[in-house]
Parts: sequence; structure tokens; C-alpha cells
Amino acid sequence: MGHEVVALVPAAGMGRRMGAKVPKQQLAMGGLPILTRTLLLLEQVAVVDAVVVAAPAGREAQLAANCIEPFGLAKVAKVVTGGDERQDSVWAAAKAAASLGASWVLVHDAVRPLAPPKLFESVLQAARQHGAAVAALAAVDTIKEAGDDRLVVRTLERSRLWQVQTPQGFALGPLLAAMEQARAQGIVATDEAGLMERMGSKVALTPGARQNIKITTPEDLRLAQGWLGAAPPVMPRVGQGMDVHALVEGRPLILGGVNIEYERGLLGHSDADVLTHAVMDALLGAAGLGDIGGMFPDTEPAYAGANSLDLLSEVVARLALEELTPAQISATLVAQAPRLAPFIPAMRRNLAQRLHLTPEMVNVAATTTEGLGFTGQGKGICALATAVLR
Ligand code: MG
Repeated sequence: MGHEVVALVPAAGMGRRMGAKVPKQQLAMGGLPILTRTLLLLEQVAVVDAVVVAAPAGREAQLAANCIEPFGLAKVAKVVTGGDERQDSVWAAAKAAASLGASWVLVHDAVRPLAPPKLFESVLQAARQHGAAVAALAAVDTIKEAGDDRLVVRTLERSRLWQVQTPQGFALGPLLAAMEQARAQGIVATDEAGLMERMGSKVALTPGARQNIKITTPEDLRLAQGWLGAAPPVMPRVGQGMDVHALVEGRPLILGGVNIEYERGLLGHSDADVLTHAVMDALLGAAGLGDIGGMFPDTEPAYAGANSLDLLSEVVARLALEELTPAQISATLVAQAPRLAPFIPAMRRNLAQRLHLTPEMVNVAATTTEGLGFTGQGKGICALATAVLR
């Protein structure tokens, strides 16, 4: 239901060409695992309703814990067990897409995090027209065919040659039939379109993108990082937020989404999560969008007892409409008691998940005011936050 178009991401390869200890799709690029970057990209592609990831056998939980769960990737519907060959992984993911009710699938390499979001739309559109379509670039280099002895057999006519990328879009039924037949006959293809061609199906070529490189060697990784750095320079946007709530009896104490056992709690219309409120104000401030009082009026009954982390997700979605994403948060809690240090790692994880950031990019500090003022006398808790957007 609601999963007409599903992206299939085969991420079961071990990436031996990369020579690293972790699978290539889990290597970091600009602070995030490559696979996470690819999945964040798919979150932005409006035509993709859901995503299925194929993980290495026995490493499904590890992959989810490293690359998916910390980042609040709402579209990832399933993590399935992949196989030794890419084709086995796509097969497992395609069957999962069928169980989600998909009619169309877009297969996309886990290690192509730089595909432009529009490319998925154009490939899907061409697939809807022809049954199957792949992103491809016209060959620039002359391509020669050689024998095992590396002696040239012939030079191919370049104007007819295309280098194939992903995404590759297919009607799911015919793709499953082509894959089933290939499996029965022991045929392995380097891409799914090749299997469709064997069945005599039409496959259309859609202009791909130069930056949509497949990261399979350390050189590719450096090149991809260059593409990331080559994005037009933008001024960082910085905002500050500050909030105070009174400490009273008979209320829960919730800070950064963590329910803290204490004799008193914070008074407020929502769950009174003062830390999350300061973070939201900092984000809205950096975006020039006012403050949370304007976005979530406390006269609005819908926000009574609201989970502030859910409100934070709404703020992040609002920022996305302005093409802004959180890059970093630095926050400080000011409270005399209780001792907050043991709860800070969980607060950072909660906030980071809603912000699509790693916990390292979300700092939470805590301080007392040495018994001075309303925080020192335990009458309330104050939170301050600074946010950077990109
Ligand atoms: Mg507040």
C-alpha cells in the first residue's frame, strides 16, 4: 500500500578492490558512510516510495546499526539478506519489493551516492514508457576489444557505445520473470538490464550524470570527495536558541527525548523538553523562520503533551522545503540537579537521529550555576543551543 515505486539497493558486496577492512559501502565519505549518503539521497527523491537494502549475509544487523538506524531514514522499509553476486542481492530485494506491493523498481548501486535526484525521475519516466530504462553516458574514450593475449581484435564504433550507470528502472513483473529464468539457466549478468535484453525486452537509455561515479577504488573515493567539495560554496547559516521551563512536582523530566527518573519534572504545554525546544529554535533561527512559538502555538490543543522529538522532525522537514539541512548542533543544559551526565549519550543519539546527523555532530554539555539564580535554586532548567545549517 503506497509503495508503487521501490528503490532496490544492493549493498552486499565486500568491495575487495577497495582494500579496506569494512565493506566499501560502509566507508565514510565526508563524515557519513557511503551507503548512508546514498539512502539520504533516496529520501529526497519524491518518486521513490520505499527502499529495500540487500545486506551481506550475517551482517544485516551490523549494516542497519551502522548505516541506517542512526540516521532516521524513513523510506527504508526492509533490509534483506543479499548474496555473493549482485544479481542474487537484487533478486532478494526485488522479491521484497513485490511483497511491499511495488509495480516499478529502481535498482541503484549502494556506492553511487552522487546521482542527481532528478535522474531517478527521468529513468522512471523512460521505464514507464518502454518497460525498462537505464542511466547511461555516451562513451568519451575510444573502446577496443582485445583477446586474452591483450592484442586488439577490433576498435568499436564509439558513437554507438554507452557506459551504463544506475539507476536502472523496470516494471517489476517482467524483471522478476527475467531474473527467474536467468537463475534457472545459471546466467549471471553485470546488470539487470542485460537480463531484460536476453528476454528480448526493450531497454531505453536515459542521459546519466558525470558525477554519478561508482566508488569501487580508493581513487574513486578521492574523486567523489572532490565532487562533494566542488559543490558551489554556500555561506554557513548559524542560529541560536534558548528556552526555560519551571521544575514542578507531578511532571515527568524529559530532556532530549530521554525520560529521566527525578522527583520533579518540567512544566509546559507539550512534554516541556527544554533541550529539544532550544535546538528547534536554533534551527529555525538559522533558517530565518522565526521560532517554535510561531510554528507550534501553545494555544493549539494538538500540541498538548506533544513529543518534542516529533516536533523536531517537523522542523527538519520544514527546513528541507528551504533546501536547508542541519549540519551541527552545540547545546548546553543549565541545571543544578539531577546529575545529567549519564543521560547525555542517549540525548545526543535521539537528537542526531531526528536531525539525520551522526551523534558526533550533536554536542550536549551540562553545567550548574553554582547554586546561583533560578537554575541554581532548582526552580527551573534552562537550555541554550547553536545550530549550523548547510
Ligand atoms: Mg519550551
